[in-house]
Amino acid sequence: MTRASVATSLRLILFGPPGAGKGTQAQMLKEQLGVEHVSSGDLFRHHLSNGTELGELARGYMNRGALVPDEVTIEMVLDRVGSLPSGRGFMLDGFPRNTNQARALNDALLQQSQRIDRVVHISVPDDELIRRLSNRYICRKCQKPFTRNPASGEPPRNCDDCADGGDIYQRDDDTPDAVANRLTVYHEETAPVLDYYRDAGLLDNIPGDASVESVNRAVLDALGLTAEV
Ligand SMILES: [Zn+2]
Repeated sequence: MTRASVATSLRLILFGPPGAGKGTQAQMLKEQLGVEHVSSGDLFRHHLSNGTELGELARGYMNRGALVPDEVTIEMVLDRVGSLPSGRGFMLDGFPRNTNQARALNDALLQQSQRIDRVVHISVPDDELIRRLSNRYICRKCQKPFTRNPASGEPPRNCDDCADGGDIYQRDDDTPDAVANRLTVYHEETAPVLDYYRDAGLLDNIPGDASVESVNRAVLDALGLTAEV
């Protein structure tokens, strides 16, 4: 097998807290490795907007304000993974969210004599994530994004793009308290899944508080692919 075909047949899982730059890394890896990017968020949107059987099932729960059960999410992901040409690798993003989903994935892959090759976790200290995420402000009128002035530590008062100087605000989701809360939820949810893959010897922790390029290099290093891309 050539090294290129090793890369395109890799089966990966990508983890990272909000603000860690996971989306950017996923985009780069998808192109560098030539694997299919399977994002659970995209899958949900696809099934919901196409009104598939699984989509309607999920919508029923969502309309009642209930959580979509694991079985539905698992089936969406396995259905997608199972539809890939044989030997085509993939990179899961947003799945598995808990050990129940991780086990179901493992079992389904085993039935096809497949397995997950590596699990990449981009980790960034919480205080850095809070700093990054809570530094986001938007113009109420045109939605142009702003950040705090590094010198004054204050966001601009008015939008320079709007003639009447639209006012700048921070979304409720992006306040430091809300961000800290999102991170707590992330850690509680993810820690057991990371433990599961660490125990299986598959987990690579990649420090994410570096430039996009060096994080990318570290991921490729961990996959043993540095020289090739
Ligand atoms: Zn504006």
